[in-house]
This record gives sequence, structure tokens and C-alpha cells, in this order.
Amino acid sequence: MEVSACVDRVSVGEEGGAGPPNIYLVTGGGGAAFIDTGYGTDAEMEECLRLWRLRGRPAVSAIVLTHRHPDHVGGAARLRAAAGGRVVCSAEERGPIEEAGVSVDVSAAQDETLDLGGLTLEIVETPGHTMGSLCVLLREEGLLFTGDTVLGRGSVAVSPDHGDVGLYVESLERLARYPLRRIAPGHGPMVDDPVGRLRWLIDHRARREKQILSLLRDGASSMDDLFEAIYPNLRGDLCWAARGQIRAHLLKLERDGLLASASPEDGRYTLRSDT
Ligand SMILES: [Zn+2]
Repeated sequence: MEVSACVDRVSVGEEGGAGPPNIYLVTGGGGAAFIDTGYGTDAEMEECLRLWRLRGRPAVSAIVLTHRHPDHVGGAARLRAAAGGRVVCSAEERGPIEEAGVSVDVSAAQDETLDLGGLTLEIVETPGHTMGSLCVLLREEGLLFTGDTVLGRGSVAVSPDHGDVGLYVESLERLARYPLRRIAPGHGPMVDDPVGRLRWLIDHRARREKQILSLLRDGASSMDDLFEAIYPNLRGDLCWAARGQIRAHLLKLERDGLLASASPEDGRYTLRSDT
């Protein structure tokens, strides 16, 4: 699917939920880049290579991985073998991505650019969803590739184990200051109102934090208390992820000095007395 005159999108699989992972191919006058690589299924790879051939088999300068999750890094090795290109990710994600069996060629950092000939890709570090998540700005189009930092629909899960809610909100605030025209998310449809979407995500996190604080003040003290109050009637398969979101927020409250501990020995959360 064509996103713009120089950007193609591959998205193979069932819609529903956030939707299947999006893979993007950006083609300039002097080279091309893939941004994310899906799971690496045959159907995804065939479609990526079909579009790449349609674009005239441009030299692939880079295969940029926005973060470590398997639905984004799964096709990297296959794409590199078939079309070439250096695999690029943030320094923070490099270890986990290599542990997943993908060899990384280059670690990229904030403000680094890649010139594709008339098109410039710029790295924007956006820790939060994972600690090393990054976005890629296509400067000439004000088009931001966000991986899982912003999705086409719904809110974004912040990993309690290798992400950070506080940093996530700061990343969104920083993105809102970029001159953005559209967002090309890691899942779901294009976002035509980038600032509105970023504001909604920031507000969503703020509302959830307020909700957790007021539940704790009103006597909720265990994960079960919080979970039942915040997510009544949640589909069974989403419960684990939902508890992870609560845990991610509790960790932020602990870091902010509002919660005594996010992992108390007796499983009972207590607010600091002056909160
Ligand atoms: Zn992810």
C-alpha cells in the first residue's frame, strides 16, 4: 500500500486489536530504507520484496528497527539477506535484539540522519514503550514512523519490565514539539492529526495515574483491588497485559516518591503519608 509518493507500507494479517505490524519502505533518489520488519513471515517478506522490486530495486541503506519486540524485528535477517542493508537500532535495544538472533550492524542515536537522496531520515529517541524505542522522522514530509510509541488506534502498552511510563510521557511531549504532519504507526492506520493523537496519549496516561492514586487513597491496596476497579469485565486474554500496565504505573509512582514501594513484600501498596 502506498502511504506517499516515496513510502510504501506492508501490513499482513488479521485486523482487530492494534492490528498486524506495519513495515515501511522509504525510497529516495539515492537509496531506500525499511523501517521495522514485521514477524518475518513468508507473506510479509514476499510483499516487502515485491514493493522493493516495483521501486526498481533501490540500494537498501538501512533496515531500521524501532524496538526489540518480535513483531518488529522478526524479518530483519531475511530482508537483509534478500535486499541488503545495514540493520540499525538504538544502543539500548541492541543486546535484546541480538539475543533474539538478529545481528545489528549500527547503533543509532538522537539526531543522527540518513540521506536517501532528496530524503532525510532522522532518528528521534523515544524511550518508554521499551527503554530503547526510537522513532524515525522523514523530514521532507513531516512523516514520523513511531513503531509502538504511537499506534494507529488505542493506547500503548508500556512494558513494566523494560519500559518506563515517566519516560514514555516525556517522549510523547518531545515528539509533540516536532513539525509533524502525519504519523506512520507500528500497527494500525495512518494518523492524520499527530498532535491531537500525542495529546490524547499523554492525557490517557495522566488520567490513569490520577485514577490509581485516588483508588489507593480510597483504600485499594492490592493489585487485585486496582485491577478490578480499573478493568472490570476485561477479556481474559488481556488481563495479563492490563496488570502489566498497572505495574508500570506503580513503578512510576514509586520513582516519583508517591508510593512506598511498587513491590511490597506483603503485596499491599501504601502511599507515602504526605501524598
Ligand atoms: Zn512493541
